[in-house]
Amino acid sequence: MKTPVISQAMQILTKLRNVMDEQNNVSDKLNQLTEIIIQEFGADAGACYVTIDDNYLELFSSYGYKEDISHKISIRVGDGLVGDVAKNNRSLKTSDVWKNPQFLYFPEIGEEQYKSFLGVPISRLGRAIGVITLQKKIKYEFSRSEVEILETIAMVLSDFFASSEMNELKNSLMRSRGESNKEKYKGVSLSKGYGVGVVIVHRRRNPVTKIFSEDKEQELRKLETAYVQMNNDLDEKFNSTKLGIGEHVDILDAYRMFAKDRGWYKKIADNVSGGLTAEAATERAYEDMWKRLSGTKDSYMRERLHDLRDITDRLLGYLSGDQKDSANIDAKDLIVVSQTMGPADLMDYNYNHIRGLIIEDGTPTMHVAIVAKALGIPVISKIKGIYKEIKSGEIVAIDGEEGYVYIRPSLSLQQKFKDKMAEKVKLQKRLATLRRLPSKTKDGTRINMYLNVGLAFDLDFIEKTNCDGIGLYRTEIPFMASESMPDVDQQTECYKELMDKAKNKKVVFRSLDVGSDKLLPYWSYSGEDNPAIGWRSIRITLDRRAILRKQMRSFLRAAAGKELNVMFPMIANLTEFQDAKETLLIELEKEKRKGAKVPNKLNIGLMIEVPSVVFQLEDILKEADFVSVGTNDLAQFMFACDRGNPRLSERYDVLSAPFLRIMQGIVCMANQAGVMCSVCGEMASNPIEALALIGLGYRNLSMSGSAFGKVKSMIRSTNIEDVEDYMNILLKSSKRTLRPQLISYANDHGIEIY
Ligand code: PEP
Ligand code: MG
Repeated sequence: MKTPVISQAMQILTKLRNVMDEQNNVSDKLNQLTEIIIQEFGADAGACYVTIDDNYLELFSSYGYKEDISHKISIRVGDGLVGDVAKNNRSLKTSDVWKNPQFLYFPEIGEEQYKSFLGVPISRLGRAIGVITLQKKIKYEFSRSEVEILETIAMVLSDFFASSEMNELKNSLMRSRGESNKEKYKGVSLSKGYGVGVVIVHRRRNPVTKIFSEDKEQELRKLETAYVQMNNDLDEKFNSTKLGIGEHVDILDAYRMFAKDRGWYKKIADNVSGGLTAEAATERAYEDMWKRLSGTKDSYMRERLHDLRDITDRLLGYLSGDQKDSANIDAKDLIVVSQTMGPADLMDYNYNHIRGLIIEDGTPTMHVAIVAKALGIPVISKIKGIYKEIKSGEIVAIDGEEGYVYIRPSLSLQQKFKDKMAEKVKLQKRLATLRRLPSKTKDGTRINMYLNVGLAFDLDFIEKTNCDGIGLYRTEIPFMASESMPDVDQQTECYKELMDKAKNKKVVFRSLDVGSDKLLPYWSYSGEDNPAIGWRSIRITLDRRAILRKQMRSFLRAAAGKELNVMFPMIANLTEFQDAKETLLIELEKEKRKGAKVPNKLNIGLMIEVPSVVFQLEDILKEADFVSVGTNDLAQFMFACDRGNPRLSERYDVLSAPFLRIMQGIVCMANQAGVMCSVCGEMASNPIEALALIGLGYRNLSMSGSAFGKVKSMIRSTNIEDVEDYMNILLKSSKRTLRPQLISYANDHGIEIY
C-alpha cells in the first residue's frame, strides 16, 4: 500500500497542474486527473462528481469501476456517502462501506468488490461544487494525512471545477438534455437573503409621443394637478410607513424634499409655457438636468440622478393617469424588478410582501439598496438585460447570498428556496432562545459579546440580542446617509439616541472612518490610485482637525454624566494615536472650562488595522485604555489584498498561520499589559473564525446583530481548553488555509457552527 507523504503531495499537485494546463478538452483532462489521483494514492478505484443545479451530483469521470459510466450516475445532494460529503461540505471516510447505513449501492458502477471509502468535497465559497472519492478493495482506514492531502488536492481542483471550460461542459450537457441553464443569472448582491415570488416589473415607461401642446393654460393646470396629487400621495405614504427612526428615514425625507423642489417644478412649467406638453416638458427638464449632472465625478450628485429619474417617472405616471398600475399589486410574495428605482418606489408596494428586488442598474450606495437592507429585503443588481427579459407575473427566485436570480425556477427549486427561507426563520427562532443564556463556554469561560452598529435598524439588536454593549459604532454610516456634514448638535443628538438605547451598557464610538469605499456624498475625493491605502480615515480627520474636534465635542456631550469610550481607526503609529487622543482631551478641557457636564469616565483606544502598529504595540499599550482589532482591514494590509476585489477574495484566508499568529501576538501583548482587547472585524461574526479567536485567547468579540445567535451557540458548545491546545498545534501548519481542519475539529467535537 502506497501512502503519499508531503513531498509526494507536491509531486501529485505538479502532475495535476500539468494536466490542467494542457490544451486537451475538459472531459479528457478530468479523466486524466482522476486516474492520476487514484493511482498516486494507491487506491483501486474512485470518481469525480460534479454538482448540477445545486441539487444533484453527476459522475463525470471514474477509474477502476465499470467502463462508460460517466454521466450515467446521478446522486441527490444529501443521499448516500457522496451526497453526504456534498451536503455537509465535509470529508467522510469509512473502512467498510457495506457496514455503513448511509451507503447507497449503484449496481451500474460495479462497486461490489470495494470496501473502504474516502470522499472529499471540492468547494467554492463554502459550498461543495463537486466530490472526489477513493476506494480500496480491502478494509482500510484512510489516515489523517491522506485525508489532508486529498483535501489539498481538492482545493487545487476547485479552480478547475469552477472554470469557464467546466461550466461550458455542464451547460452543453444540460442543453443536450433540453434542460437549459439560461434561466439562472449571476449578478451582484446588494442585500443578502433568499426570496421567491411573483414578478412585478416596476413601471416600464411609455415614451412621450405628443410633444407640442395646443393649449398652454390647460397643460399648466394639468401639470399643477398632477404635481399636487403626487406630493399629497407621497406625504401620505411616507407618513403611514412605519420604518422607524434613523437614517433610512432621512433618505426618504430627502427624496420627498426633492419632489417638492419648486426649482424643478418651475423648469417644467417654463417648458410648458414654451409650448411643450406637460409630459414632454417633464422629460425635457430631466434631460437638461441629466446632461448637466451625468458627467460629474461627484458620486452624490450621480446618485441623485436615480432619484430624479424616479420622480420624473412618477410625475409622468400622474400626468398620464396610470400611476396606480403598480400600487394595485396585492400578491403576498412579490419580486420587484426595475431598471432603476428610488426609495419611495418601495412604498408603492406593501413592503411586508416584497420578497426581493432586482435592480438592473443598482449600486451599493444607491438609497433604495440602503433602505431595502434595513428592511431585510434581498437585492440583486448588475444583470444586464434582465429588466427586458422578465415579464410581470413570472415566478422568480432570488439568492441574495450568492447573487443569483432564477427565472421560472422548477417547482423543486422553488421548494428548495422556500425551505431555505423557512430554515433561516427556524434557525433564527431557535438561536433567539439563547438570548437569556450566558455567553459561556462549556468549561465556564465567559466571552463578552458586543454589537457592531451603523444603521439605525441595527439598534433594535441591542434588545434582541441582550448584548454586553456596542463594541463598534461606525459613526461614518449616519454621515454617509446625511445630505451634508452633520453639525455638532445633529451629531450629539444622534449619539445620544444610541447611548439612550444602550441604557447603561458600554458603547464604543469610533471616530469618522471615511475614504476608500466609504465615501461621503458631499465630500469631493481626489481620485487616488490606491484609495484603500490613501488619504482616508484618521489621516483625513487629523489633517482636517475641525471635523475631528466637532466629533469629539459631540461624543463628550452625548455621554455627559456617563462613561465614554472612543477609539480611532487606521492608526499607523504611536504619534497618530497621541495626536488624536490629545484632540479629544483638549475638547474635554474646553467643555469643562465652559462648565458643561462631561462624561464621568473616559476610555480612549484605537483599532489595530495597520500592521505597523503591531510592531509598536508595547509602547502604544502604555497609552491606550483598550484596543480593538479590525480584522477586515488588517487582513487586507497583511496580505496586500484589496478587501473589495472579488477576484482575490478566496486567495488568502484569515484562518492561516501568518494571520492567526499575528492575532495571537496582539492578544497576548494586550493581556500582559492589562489592556482590554477585542475583535470587531468580520472574523468575530463568523462562528468558525470566532472559534479560532477564542482559541487564541480573545474574550471580547464584537459582531453584527444577525450573527449573535450563531456565535453564541458556538461558544456554548465549545470547550475552551481543548480549542486552545488545538490552536497551538494548528499554528505550526504551513497550509494556505486551516479552515477545513478547524471545521472538521468543530464537527468532531460537537461544536455548533451554522
Ligand atoms: C475592520 O476593518 O475590520 C473594521 C471593523 O472596520 P471597517 O470594516 O468599518 O473598515
Ligand atoms: Mg476598518
